[in-house]
Amino acid sequence: LTRLYGPLTALSNVRVDVMSALVSFDRVFEVLDLTPSIAEKPDAVALPRGDGRVEFRDVWFRYPSAAEVSLASLEDVAALDRQANEPVLKGVSFTVEPGQMVALVGPSGAGKSTTSMLLSRVYDVTDGAVRVGGVDVRDATLGSLRDEIGVVTQDSHLFHETIAENLRYAKPDATDEELWAALRGAQIADLVRSLPDGLETVVGERGYRFSGGEKQRIAIARLLLKAPSIVVLDEATAHLDSESEAAVQRALSVALTGRTALVIAHRLSTVRDADQILVLDDGRVVERGRHDELVAVGGLYAELYRTQFAVAASPAPLVADAQEP
Ligand code: ADP
Ligand code: MG
Repeated sequence: LTRLYGPLTALSNVRVDVMSALVSFDRVFEVLDLTPSIAEKPDAVALPRGDGRVEFRDVWFRYPSAAEVSLASLEDVAALDRQANEPVLKGVSFTVEPGQMVALVGPSGAGKSTTSMLLSRVYDVTDGAVRVGGVDVRDATLGSLRDEIGVVTQDSHLFHETIAENLRYAKPDATDEELWAALRGAQIADLVRSLPDGLETVVGERGYRFSGGEKQRIAIARLLLKAPSIVVLDEATAHLDSESEAAVQRALSVALTGRTALVIAHRLSTVRDADQILVLDDGRVVERGRHDELVAVGGLYAELYRTQFAVAASPAPLVADAQEP
């Protein structure tokens, strides 16, 4: 009975949390199933709105062992158990000043996605601290943290509902004009306008099926409506063909304008524009600096640059993102 009951209970909880969590992390189902309960302190404070400063101070992290995970399925438990005690971040420190863009690069498994999840508090640090606007994220109200941070991952989730409903998760009282403005910023207004039901088009399995790149642009429209001061992109253009990637990149450069950004990327154009590049390897920041500095150092970044970036380089401007090697 427990075996059947666990997952079912987990699912019914998910729907409730999804409404508030949706905008912060798109892989909600995956995430919530594995997330130990992140609690809000009784005396939690609202983050200063619009500050956008991000600080990681000597952050250590290991994934929770099975016993600490409340909603894990049996398979997840087994997978977690195997890796339970290995720290995946080992003393990561960096600061992103308001409006700056920091690029995180490094081999697969280095800890890039984990870093981004600690920022939006999918997990809590094992040691050290993550601060947003000078406030430890563990002391902030969950609502204010979600308002401050917008995340786009490689697979954005849309509900089997209308486009308007999907967008209004980000801003329930948005007018149609605001929805259209967001869709324009996200480079997807023309497509939506061409659909017979426009904003009222139902999307998903039994509705209109967006391509991968179109889904990403709807996710970016959501982000524009939400207008967070911090944007996290985790491989937001991975798996897209070059045509849809170019459109998504244009949408992302609109979304990043005037915001603090943490971008997990390996595309040269993004990395080159970054105010700071952090090279992560096996849970540690092994190099940091700007593109030219790091190339001159001749270390891991220079090697990544030669082997990946040079190949992946495209003339498209600004923001883009990685595929796993
Ligand atoms: P990257 O994004 O740089 O490829 P990740 O942050 O996804 O790296 O992963 C860092 C390390 O943490 C890897 O060794 C990965 O296997 C491990 N890891 C990722 N997610 C989990 C999880 N939910 N439970 C246990 N270990 C995990
Ligand atoms: Mg990753």
